[in-house]
Amino acid sequence: MSTSSKRTLIRGGMLIDGTGAEPIDNGAILIENGRILEVGAASDIRSTGAEVIEAGGRTIMPGLIDAHIHIGSDGNPNPMRRLKEKHAYTAIKSGVHARKLLEAGFTTVRDAAAHGYTNIATRDAINDRLIPGPRMRAPGYGLTSTGGHGDGYFAPHVSIDNPGLCDSPDEVRKATRLMLKMGADCIKFVSATGGVMSDGDEPGAPHMTIEEMAAGIHEAKAHGVHTFAHAQGTTGIQNAIKAGITSIEHGFWIDDETVEMMLANNVYFVPTLNAVFQIVEYGEEAGIPAYAVRKASEAQEAHLESFDRAYKAGVKIAMGTDAGTPFNKQGENAIELELMRRAGMSAMDTIVATTKTAAECIQFGDVTGTLEVGKSADIILVDGNPLDQVNILRNTEKIQLVMKEGEVFASRMS
Ligand SMILES: [Zn+2]
Repeated sequence: MSTSSKRTLIRGGMLIDGTGAEPIDNGAILIENGRILEVGAASDIRSTGAEVIEAGGRTIMPGLIDAHIHIGSDGNPNPMRRLKEKHAYTAIKSGVHARKLLEAGFTTVRDAAAHGYTNIATRDAINDRLIPGPRMRAPGYGLTSTGGHGDGYFAPHVSIDNPGLCDSPDEVRKATRLMLKMGADCIKFVSATGGVMSDGDEPGAPHMTIEEMAAGIHEAKAHGVHTFAHAQGTTGIQNAIKAGITSIEHGFWIDDETVEMMLANNVYFVPTLNAVFQIVEYGEEAGIPAYAVRKASEAQEAHLESFDRAYKAGVKIAMGTDAGTPFNKQGENAIELELMRRAGMSAMDTIVATTKTAAECIQFGDVTGTLEVGKSADIILVDGNPLDQVNILRNTEKIQLVMKEGEVFASRMS
């Protein structure tokens, strides 16, 4: 074993392990066969025969994790454009985005619903090593009620093939089983409430019932798979929690009572601040539909208050961007750390949200998210100190080395 195993030693940089612990000034990490064998102070770790990467002057930290992206979407302002897009085209685009994400230091992501099972196909292509990309969770289609956030609004003579469309607990159960059959490793309810990018509904309105979501969650749990809900209004968020959801996505209106429910039920919060931020920032002039700009503008202040309330109360916050929504681009995901910091989170906590907590939220907590012995060697080297300025993580030039499962994918080290 030891004679044939491949060892790599990264040493000399400031080490942030993702747990929230104090950084180690002169850290080192020893990797064997894609896993972390030792981690700590450089003076404590010796390894003869290992390939050495000198990290002096840089930060050694876990690969970044985005718990909410749409890997097939590119940030185009017009949601109608995708209606003309073939599934195969979306799949190709997803492959391009997978590479971009990895280049930007994202070694793990969760997709949050796509058509044509393109997210599952992308995950499988990455796992089969056909294309480079982050470790992925993929739910297939998002499950939506008729007229809900995931259902289109079309003329009566237009029919859209959407296997995620389901009303009643039995239909939700069947749709969940279908997604699991197609290879989903998480289940997404896209209509616990209405949403911003859907024409004809309101983010505050509850859609799927507790009974409907509970039926899907029961099926998902039986398969050992976690669940997450697009939930923006208070009642819809509470419905999802009562149904047994793992994480609340967006969460525009989280009041004190909802915070208590999240804490009591160990529910994660994935805020996706960037989705709202970019829509408000760019507005109608940039081609974003007026209804979306209106709804995002109406929600933004409450959203930031909800974030603050949840953070201060100790709700587990996992980083997610909703990348793929207007001007919310794949590879620029680390902007979310800056937005969370501006919303009152400490720099270290933005990193924990983007590493440890995100990994746990998407059921990869045993595999990745922290630099601890036994975990996958998903590591980035950053030129500079993100604790001084989390914004540097947005600059791909500063992400000087990206390692996934012990293999260097991208290196800008000279
Ligand atoms: Zn989303």
